[in-house]
Amino acid sequence: MCFYDLHSHSTASDGTLTPAGLVEEAHAAGVRVLALTDHDTLDGLAEAAQAVSGLDLRLISGVEVSATWQDMTVHILGLDVDTHSQVLSAGLQELQTIRGWRAQEISRKLADKGIPDALEGACRFRRGNVVNRTHFAQFLVASGYAISVCDVFKRFMVRGKPGYVRIDWVPMQRAVDWIRQAGGLPVIAHPARYGLTRAKLNRLVAAFQEAGGVGLEVVSGSHSRDETLRMAAVCRDHSLFASSGSDYHGPEKPWVQLGRLRSLPDGCFPIWEAESWPAHAAR
Ligand code: AMP
Ligand code: MN
Ligand code: MN
Ligand code: MN
Repeated sequence: MCFYDLHSHSTASDGTLTPAGLVEEAHAAGVRVLALTDHDTLDGLAEAAQAVSGLDLRLISGVEVSATWQDMTVHILGLDVDTHSQVLSAGLQELQTIRGWRAQEISRKLADKGIPDALEGACRFRRGNVVNRTHFAQFLVASGYAISVCDVFKRFMVRGKPGYVRIDWVPMQRAVDWIRQAGGLPVIAHPARYGLTRAKLNRLVAAFQEAGGVGLEVVSGSHSRDETLRMAAVCRDHSLFASSGSDYHGPEKPWVQLGRLRSLPDGCFPIWEAESWPAHAAR
C-alpha cells in the first residue's frame, strides 16, 4: 500500500466525484497524502481543503496543466502550488479560453457530421467551469452515438476522426514556469502515455528540466508494470524526482483506484523526500 496518491480529478474538471466526495474516498482507501490535480483549474481545492480538516489525510494543492511540446500535448502536474498565485491563475485562465474555443470547434465539426447541439449537450455533463472532451464523450454516450466513453475517444476524438480538433495549448516551458512561480513542483504526468521513443522522451525530459521541471510520474494508474520500470530508468538517468499517482477520475473506471499503486522501483528518489516537499519545508 502506497500512502501517497499525487494525481486525481474531481467534478471541477472531468472527475465524477465532488472534491469532498473524492477526499472521503481517498481517506476510506487509506491514502495519507492526496493531491487533487484537476485539468487547468484550481476550483476544487477549497472544497477539498475543507473536507480534509479533521481527517488523518493531507491535501496537496495541485493542478494538471495542458501544455504543448513539439506539436504534441503533454500534461504537467503542479504539486503544492500557491492557490493565490496571480501568475498561475492568469495562465490557467488562458487555457480555459483555449478550451472554450476548442469546445465550439468540436461542436461545429460534430454538427457537420449530423450531430447537432453537442456543446449544449457537453455542458449538461460539466459540473465545474471547465469544458473537457470527457463531457463531450459523456453526451455522445448518453445520446446513443457510442457505447462507452472509450468508444467515443476511438471513434470521434482522435486525429482523423469527426470530432478531432488540433490544438495548441501553451508551450511546456510556460506551464512549468507558472507552476514554479506559484511555488509548486512541476512533474511530467503519465510519461509512458505519449507514445514516444526513448530518444524523443529523453529530449522531452531535457527540455522540461531546462525549463525548471523536477519530477516524473513513474508510477501511474495508466502505466503497466513494464512501463513503470522503463519510466523509472528515465527518471534515474535524468536525476528527476519520482512521483506516484492514480489519475483517478471516479468509480466509473474501476480498474483505476485511489491509492492502489505499485511502490516506486528501486533507485527512484521519491518526490515526497525532496527538500522542497511541503512537509519537509516546515521542519
Ligand atoms: P481534454 O483535456 O479536454 O483534451 O480531455 C482529456 C481527457 O479525456 C483526459 O484527461 C482523460 O480523462 C480523457 N481521455 C483521453 N483519452 C481517453 C480515452 N482513450 N478513453 C477515455 N478517456 C480518455
Ligand atoms: Mn481527465
Ligand atoms: Mn493527463
Ligand atoms: Mn489526470
